[in-house]
Amino acid sequence: MKNKHCEWCDNQFTANLSYQIYCSVECREAATKEKIAERYLLVKIKNRIGKNRKCKSCGTGLSIYNDDVLCKVCLVNPSEVLKALKDLKGLADGKD
Ligand SMILES: [Zn+2]
Ligand SMILES: [Zn+2]
Repeated sequence: MKNKHCEWCDNQFTANLSYQIYCSVECREAATKEKIAERYLLVKIKNRIGKNRKCKSCGTGLSIYNDDVLCKVCLVNPSEVLKALKDLKGLADGKD
């Protein structure tokens, strides 16, 4: 038995098993879920490398870390963007 800090919630707990790093099943599941989500996000970002993604409103190149179809400038001005998106929807369909 060993006192440890949970890697998820940082609570101190007594580990029954030497490899136990979470204080509870809840913490372990929460951590696992986040890891899966993180990996998914990384794959998503990696898949964007080499792709020429452009803002659907103004055509500026988008960062691979940008989850949106719009650049930061256009995100600030959503009403015009919605209009532009409607116009561009036909063009965008069928692509990636
Ligand atoms: Zn915990
Ligand atoms: Zn833009």
